[in-house]
Parts: sequence; structure tokens; C-alpha cells
Amino acid sequence: MTSPLHYTLLGTGGSHGTPSIGCDCPVCTSPNPKNYRRRCSLHIHCADTHLIIDTPPDFREQVLTFGIPRLDALLLTHAHADHIMGFDDVRRFSHAHPTGLPVYSNPDTLQQMQKKFDYVLQPGYDRYATPNIQFIPLQTEPLQLGPLTITPLPVPHGPSPTFGYRIETPHHALAYIPDCQAIPPQTLNMLDNLDVMILNALRSQPHPTHLTTEQSIDYLHRINATTSLVTHLNHDNDHDTLQAQLQPHRITVPWDGFTGTLT
Ligand SMILES: [Zn+2]
Ligand SMILES: [Zn+2]
Ligand SMILES: [Zn+2]
Repeated sequence: MTSPLHYTLLGTGGSHGTPSIGCDCPVCTSPNPKNYRRRCSLHIHCADTHLIIDTPPDFREQVLTFGIPRLDALLLTHAHADHIMGFDDVRRFSHAHPTGLPVYSNPDTLQQMQKKFDYVLQPGYDRYATPNIQFIPLQTEPLQLGPLTITPLPVPHGPSPTFGYRIETPHHALAYIPDCQAIPPQTLNMLDNLDVMILNALRSQPHPTHLTTEQSIDYLHRINATTSLVTHLNHDNDHDTLQAQLQPHRITVPWDGFTGTLT
């Protein structure tokens, strides 16, 4: 019997988060808590294995708010600030790993991490003062973590090599792509038979490195997962208005803390 796979969206916002600093638009000033969006991160829990994808600037507050007890591995999609700037706060999790918390991503992202967090692998620091981690580069081959098989999903997103991830057990499959401007055919082919697809949909206006709402709807139709969710939503998106727009497409607009279980 396979253990259930639990997932929680720890953040569903664009790079600025909502409310955005200094903005008095109707979404940024909305009293609806579903319009309060932290930067994107996803928690996966299956049997004894806990994974997180991305450590945004809100990371510490997210893990405290949503009660993440421990971490067995961290996956990074890419090294943009809105996905990594909470990285130092993996310290509390990484100290449980004598040989270092495994941190996986493509080689370019890990190189950028070593530049941006140059103190992490330098000798001479107290192991408890800095994240105790090991960077493990991934190409495109699947990786096994406890009961979970993880397949990197390469996607274009400006000049930085970027991954989404497919996460599955023999009985469940979920895919998460929080930042991309398109899904190439080879990656689209890896999105078959999904229980859950979580895909970025920044705003309705075109953007050079992000999918628009319409593009995301189109891809979600083609992927045809049992549950389709959008994320990386900027402040153009009032939750209830967007949900009414996406309802006919059987797409759900999640909020921070939105959780699901695949049994
Ligand atoms: Zn982003
Ligand atoms: Zn705003
Ligand atoms: Zn990005």
C-alpha cells in the first residue's frame, strides 16, 4: 500500500507578493485573506519524507505558519530572488542532517546559489551558524527520495535555466512549474497522467518570461490533470474574480496554505 501524498502551497504570489509594497490597488488593499499571497513555495509530504520546492523571502514565516516539522531535501526551480532569498533559514532543518541537507537543482542554479550565498560552503564557519547543506546537481534523470520519484522538468524562463518538477509514487503524480514562459513539447510529454498540475499564471497581460492567464488555461487543458491549479499570481488577480473566470475551465485558484491529499 502506498502512503498518501500531501501537498501544501506555502505561497502563491508573484515576485513582489500581494500586497505589493506601496500599492493601493483593490487587490493589495482587499480584506479577502485569499488575496494575501506570499512568494511561491510548495511542501510535499509522503510517509516520512518531507520535501520543499524553493525557499522564497517569506520562507521562515511560511514554515512557521503552515507547521512544517522537518525537511529531508530541498529542490530549487531557479535562482531568482523570489525563489531563494529565504535560503539561510534552512539552518533549523539542515542541522538535523550531519552530512548536510541535500539541495537539488540544475548546475547553473546551484552555481548561482554558491555565488549568492558564498559563506555556506566556506570552511571556518560554525556549522550551526550557516546552512549545513550539500548542493547536488541534477540533469534530467529522475531522482528517488524515499517513496518519491522526482523528475526535473526543464522550462524556458528568461536566460536562467529553470526546472519544474514531477513528483510521483507508483499511485500518485503531481507536477509543479511555478515560473516559465512556455512549456516545450519534450516537457509537455512528461506531464501525462497527473493527479495535480500546478502552473504559473502571472496576469492577463503578456509578459516576456511568464505565462499569461490565457496561456496557462490553454496548457492546463492540454495537460488535463484531475486537479488543475494556478500559482505565481500577481496583484492583477482578485481571487474571487479569477476563480469565476477559471471555473468553466475546471481550474482552481488556490491560496496560501491550500492543501490536498492524494490517497
Ligand atoms: Zn518567480
Ligand atoms: Zn496592488
Ligand atoms: Zn523567476
